[in-house]
Amino acid sequence: MEGPQGVKTKAYVVSKPEEPFVLQDVVLDGVGPHELLVEIQYTGLCHTDIVAQHGLMPIGGFPAVLGHEGVGIVRHVGSGVGNKDIKPGDTVLLSFRACQTCRKCKAGQHGGCLGLTRMNFTETARPGAKDSPISLPDGTQVFGQFFGQSSLSKMAVVAEHSAVKIDARPEELGFLAPLACGYLTGAGTVMNAMQPRKGDTMAVLGMGAVGMAAMFAARALGVETIIAVDIFDEKLQKASALGASHTINSKTQPDLVKGIKAICPDGVDYILDATGVAALLSASVEALAHGGLLTLVGVPPPNATVQFNAMDVLTSCKRIMGVIEGFADSQKIIPELVELFHAGKFPVDQLATVYEAQKLPEAIQDLKAGTVIKPILSWKDI
Ligand SMILES: [Zn+2]
Ligand SMILES: [Zn+2]
Repeated sequence: MEGPQGVKTKAYVVSKPEEPFVLQDVVLDGVGPHELLVEIQYTGLCHTDIVAQHGLMPIGGFPAVLGHEGVGIVRHVGSGVGNKDIKPGDTVLLSFRACQTCRKCKAGQHGGCLGLTRMNFTETARPGAKDSPISLPDGTQVFGQFFGQSSLSKMAVVAEHSAVKIDARPEELGFLAPLACGYLTGAGTVMNAMQPRKGDTMAVLGMGAVGMAAMFAARALGVETIIAVDIFDEKLQKASALGASHTINSKTQPDLVKGIKAICPDGVDYILDATGVAALLSASVEALAHGGLLTLVGVPPPNATVQFNAMDVLTSCKRIMGVIEGFADSQKIIPELVELFHAGKFPVDQLATVYEAQKLPEAIQDLKAGTVIKPILSWKDI
């Protein structure tokens, strides 16, 4: 091991499924040759962290440190790190890991990496796979390197391929942390999987962080008719202000097909679903135009069943596709999105609500209540 050994820091630990996130002392092991020590500045909160906290998806074990939308400053670079561009003092955004060697990775579709689940949820980045750089002061091992990072922590020992060097001012970092997952997912799905052209029409279901980022990307590609769908009027107002041409509140107007066809009589070319609500998915298939594409990025409940008319799908050449992490290569798309942000075309500063790291419970509450779009924790005062 290299670099500082036995670094004491604070992290949010979940002791077992369903237990709360507790901010407590942890000890970090030294840095391996293919790892970096990063001082986390901000961590975005994503639904996946909450799903994992509740034990609803497999992770490597408990106790665990979660968090997978980190941004921070490099403090030590392992001697074997391949990207020689990364130096201590650099700003890195921490994204998902991909194996870099499977056929999907070689095609640039890192989000489709065949090792994605294993490398981000169930294993650490260390050779022993279960070996973690994090332990409690009494020596108990804590599952770490969730998404190669476990960034709900002031300091983190990070897998090299999670780190993406970015060029941004310190005051922008609080807005940019979710580029690592939520925004990358929304924007990547539009840019890589859907690829709409100017003049095409699109509906986005669920105007949280993923849906908003998808809308920004569609606008940047020249899509003018964008129908934002949500159950919260505040989110729809925000979507209108930031680029949606039309909105539908699916609570007060539950017939989605009718709502969409009132705007696009022949159906809509593209629908991105960030809700995972089965009834909306079934309606979406019906609301697609000839040759239309529905992409699924929201997590549906287990065994959710989507109904569609097979004859309609066949004769109208409709397509349905699941997309993970926007089929994106994080090293490529994240700097592109930072550039779009600087050009005013990806206004994520309008989506962020920054909380002190101590206020994680409040941030989760607000996220669940729909009163914030993207809660982000600041580690400044820890
Ligand atoms: Zn791969
Ligand atoms: Zn996420």
